[in-house]
Amino acid sequence: MKYDYLVVGAGLYGAVFAHEMAQDKKSVLVIDRRNHVAGNTYTRKVSGINVHEYGAHIFHTSDEEVWQYINRFARFNHYINSPIAIYRDELYNMPFNMNTFHALWGVVTPEQARARVLEQIAGAQVDNPSNLEEQALSLVGRDVYEKLIKGYTEKQWGRVCDKLPAFIIKRLPLRFTYNNNYFNDRYQGIPVGGYTQITDALLDSEYITVRLNTDFKDIRDDIEYDRLIYTGAIDEYYDYCYGPLSYRSVRFETEELPMADFQGNAVVNYTEAYDPNVPEDEQSGRPYTRIIEHKHFEAEDTDIYSIPSTVISREYSQEWKPGIEPYYPVNDEENTALYERYRALADEDEKNGVLFGGRLGHYRYYDMDKVIAAALEAVRRERS
Ligand code: UDP
Repeated sequence: MKYDYLVVGAGLYGAVFAHEMAQDKKSVLVIDRRNHVAGNTYTRKVSGINVHEYGAHIFHTSDEEVWQYINRFARFNHYINSPIAIYRDELYNMPFNMNTFHALWGVVTPEQARARVLEQIAGAQVDNPSNLEEQALSLVGRDVYEKLIKGYTEKQWGRVCDKLPAFIIKRLPLRFTYNNNYFNDRYQGIPVGGYTQITDALLDSEYITVRLNTDFKDIRDDIEYDRLIYTGAIDEYYDYCYGPLSYRSVRFETEELPMADFQGNAVVNYTEAYDPNVPEDEQSGRPYTRIIEHKHFEAEDTDIYSIPSTVISREYSQEWKPGIEPYYPVNDEENTALYERYRALADEDEKNGVLFGGRLGHYRYYDMDKVIAAALEAVRRERS
């Protein structure tokens, strides 16, 4: 049979696109090489706890259309993300706010904190920030940079901060109120019952066929379709003809512990540096960037103490290599230039019915709401 659409990747982008085309009574084949739908938003239930298998996903948006849309497929709780940062034996609230400044410097009023931050910024003497280190120093000064940014960022990106682009931390908010909410968005929450149900509901249609454990390369010549929606990695689509783009990947060490509460919070960041070349007994920092304790995302939905065990994931950042999951595109100058070359090929192919979408197709670190917005935008173009 011939399909109207072949959608490669059953993540949010592919599922939203497929869902909308099915509404128009178009036939859609959705394939995914993994053994489940939902891409990196996939959650799996372990001992009554929804585990975010590919890292913490916290839905937040100010986009009214996206919020209304996603709420058709799940009910959201009122989870507010308020990470804790641990630097050696010191503990701070995130994002950087009055609680953080009080713990750092003993300041109590916003005026005192502003004066202290200004003093720190002036002391750093950076005029035109050209990399992440300079950007951080010019935004928050040396104390915050050294304790809460430098070590975490170098672990996360595997590169020193003066070799990283400034934009990565432009989104780190600085607040002069006692507000520990990590995001500034109007809407925020976790779907009650986990994320997978959203994709399941999006793909539930008589016009949609889903095939898991199916690689595009293995079936591309056997399937007939009019248009291709490709949400895999753009460099892979072109057989890495210009060389591979760089990604950061994450390794999760997940374990179930026989206690009701391990760390008292969903997200705890470990911001000290870790040098992989130094022997373990001489290390002062931990090798992971953060520990996620999944049940805290749902504390509002189930009393966390009613489940006697807990599931935690330690996150170890690593360089991507073929065969493991790519997570974060490395949008530095070199990779951006390389992406532009692939983009030029994609622009040509888009004239012939191939559409690239999602985080890997666009080589952009999209939050979930941006992925949905982009898919809905593609749907509008498709219908016009
Ligand atoms: N970051 C930091 N210290 C922290 C948390 C984040 O310096 O405790 C920086 C770091 O450079 C990171 C960026 O902020 O790459 C974005 O982090 P966030 O946790 O918001 O991103 P996520 O990985 O959760 O998408």
